[in-house]
Amino acid sequence: MSSVLFVAEHRRGDLRDVSYEGITAGRQLADALGGELHIAVISGDVDGFAESLNTPEVDVLHTVEVGEEFDHDVYAGATEALHAELDPAALILPNSVNGLDYAPAVADSLGLPYVSDTTALAYDDGLTATREMYGSKVETTVDVDADQFVVSIRSGEWEAASGAGDAELSEFAFDAEVVDDGARVQGFEEVGEGDVDIADAEFLVSVGRGIEEEDNIDLIRDLVEATGATLSSSRPIVDNGWLPKNRQVGQSGKQVTPNVYLAIGISGAVQHVAGMKGAETIIVINTDPNAPIFDIADYGIVDDLFDVVPALTEQFE
Ligand code: FAD
Repeated sequence: MSSVLFVAEHRRGDLRDVSYEGITAGRQLADALGGELHIAVISGDVDGFAESLNTPEVDVLHTVEVGEEFDHDVYAGATEALHAELDPAALILPNSVNGLDYAPAVADSLGLPYVSDTTALAYDDGLTATREMYGSKVETTVDVDADQFVVSIRSGEWEAASGAGDAELSEFAFDAEVVDDGARVQGFEEVGEGDVDIADAEFLVSVGRGIEEEDNIDLIRDLVEATGATLSSSRPIVDNGWLPKNRQVGQSGKQVTPNVYLAIGISGAVQHVAGMKGAETIIVINTDPNAPIFDIADYGIVDDLFDVVPALTEQFE
C-alpha cells in the first residue's frame, strides 16, 4: 500500500496539460512513499493516449477502454475498481471540472479522506497537502492522518512530465454497462462559440485596467496580431464587457500556463496571479514600479503602455 494512482484527463481527443503535471506530482509522492507510480487513462482511444503518457516517471500504465466522452458513473466506477485492485496509498485526480465531478464521490465511496485543489504534496510519515484559501491570499497545509487518501491537484502547479518511458502496460477490463443511470454528458460546447481557449495558448498578451478605455484595446490587438499571440485580460476588462469571459485569467477565470505571458497595465492582484503564475516567462509593462506583478516578473518595463505597446508592435511588424 505504498503506490500512487493518478487518473489522466482528456477532452475532445486531446490529453489535458494536467495529465502530464499529475505524472510529476505522482512520481514525487511515489518516491516519498517508496512505491510505484500507476497512471490510468479512461477513454475510447486508449492506445494513443497511453503512448503519450508513457514517460520515464511512470511504472505502470493502465488503459480502461470505455466511451469517448466523460461520464461520471464510468469514471467513478472504473477508478474505484482500479483502486480496489491496486490498493494504492494515494489516489490523485485532476482538480478540473471533470475531476471535481467524480473525485468526492470516489473518496466517499472508498471511505477515504479527500483534499481538493492542492498546489503541493509532501509525504513524511503522513501526507501534508498545500492549498490556498481566502481567494489565494493565504496558503494553508492540511495534514492527513490516514494510510490512504484522495487528492485533486490544481493545473499549472507541477512541471509537466515529458519524454518516452518504458512503463508496463496493463489493460484493465471494466464493464461500463453495469453502472446506474446518472448524470450524462449531452453535448459539448466550445468556449465562446468557436473562440480560442486561452488555457491552450503558448503566448498570451494580457490587458488590464491600465488600458483605460475599450477602444484602446485595439492597440493591444495590433500587438497580438504582430506577435501571433492570443489576447487575454484581467477581470475588470471582462466585468466592463470589453472582452468575453473566456478571455479572463485568474481565480474566477482561467488558469493558464503559456510559455510567455505579457501583462500590460495589470497590477498583479492575488486573484489574477493565481491564474498565471505558472507561465514560464512573465513580462510586465506597468507605469508603477511597485505594482505587485513585478514580484513574479522575469522581465519588466516601467513605462507608459501607450508609448511602449505601439513601439513594440512596430518592432514586431
Ligand atoms: P488594477 O488593479 O486597477 O491595475 C491596473 C494597473 O495598470 C496598475 O498597476 C497601474 O499602475 C497600471 N497602469 C495604469 N495606467 C498605465 C499605463 N498607462 N501604462 C502602464 N500601466 C498602467 N481579477 C482577475 O484578473 N482575475 C480573476 O479571476 C479575478 N477573480 C477575482 C475573484 C474574487 C473573489 C475577487 C474578490 C476578485 C477577483 N479579481 C480577479 C479582481 C482582482 O482582485 C483585481 O481587482 C483585478 O485583478 C485588478 O485588475 P487590473 O490589474 O487590470 O487592474
